[in-house]
Amino acid sequence: MARLRIQTEILTLKTKYPFKIARSSRDTNRTILVKVIDSDGLEGWGEVTPVAFYGETVETALAAIDAYASVMPENAFHLEDAERTLEAFVTDNNSVRAAISTALHDLVGKRLGVPLYQLWGLDAAKAPKSTFTIGIDTAEMIKKKVREAEQYPILKIKLGLENDLEILQAIRDVTDRELRVDANCGWTRKQTIRMLPILEEYGVTVLEQPLVPNDIEGLGLIAKASRIPLIVDESCITSADIPRLVGMVDGINIKLAKTGSLREAIRMIAIARAHHMMVMVGCMLESSIAITAAAHFTPLVDIADLDGAALLSNDPYTGATIDNGQIVLPTGPGLGVGVRG
Ligand code: MG
Repeated sequence: MARLRIQTEILTLKTKYPFKIARSSRDTNRTILVKVIDSDGLEGWGEVTPVAFYGETVETALAAIDAYASVMPENAFHLEDAERTLEAFVTDNNSVRAAISTALHDLVGKRLGVPLYQLWGLDAAKAPKSTFTIGIDTAEMIKKKVREAEQYPILKIKLGLENDLEILQAIRDVTDRELRVDANCGWTRKQTIRMLPILEEYGVTVLEQPLVPNDIEGLGLIAKASRIPLIVDESCITSADIPRLVGMVDGINIKLAKTGSLREAIRMIAIARAHHMMVMVGCMLESSIAITAAAHFTPLVDIADLDGAALLSNDPYTGATIDNGQIVLPTGPGLGVGVRG
């Protein structure tokens, strides 16, 4: 058997609006389409979304893919072995591992003729609703974006800069929809404690990552003081991070670009469930390829924030869709993604 081949193509994704969070703002994001090709020419697709927060760039990702190309598996079905090799050869750049893991799963699904969710024994009808994210902006722009996001019944807003109260008020001026908050590590313990009653007053139902990733003790104090469930994102990269979070926070946010593989994502869900923790799945600014990969395991999670492709003006692909907030999984084999016509 010949080794699987790998091909890459850089994608330049544009957002409809500049997307601002507590630590950065951007209106384009470069990702990489990864194609894993077998000897019959059948292709499995994945997407690398380099995460600047973890020191990844398109260039570091391409170098990591090059290093791995010579040890690609011969048999796509050996998914566990492929992941061990990936861990050995791609020690940084978890987003690269995630893309190759996705491409191998896509290929396996196509070989078997079944969609990924079916391969995992999941019921597509159990996929949850997705939030739609409103980035940090002026009150006027926030109101405009909220009105435009009319079809989404649940909004997630980014806080963590100086105009938090203005944003909360602007949202409530125009909608009474469910509201979740992500501070992206932007608050101190004191600020968070001060914000808790305000978030409650504004009807916020989920609070994500108020503090810096390593302040687990602080997060524990916040969770005890808060009536709003506390989910960590930046504090939880892989399953190895979960033990120290048990009893400290209410749940974890899994993103493929962080965890580095679909199989690891499923392991994280199992471990979090064993500890009665909530599970959320999130995303980066990425196309329908990466979004669809994550969407396939959403029947297993409580909360989904898979709006990465919906925030784009030039998503090149089709796949999972969000229909009035509801995540709808594609039924084609593997990921079930295609090129947007
Ligand atoms: Mg987050």
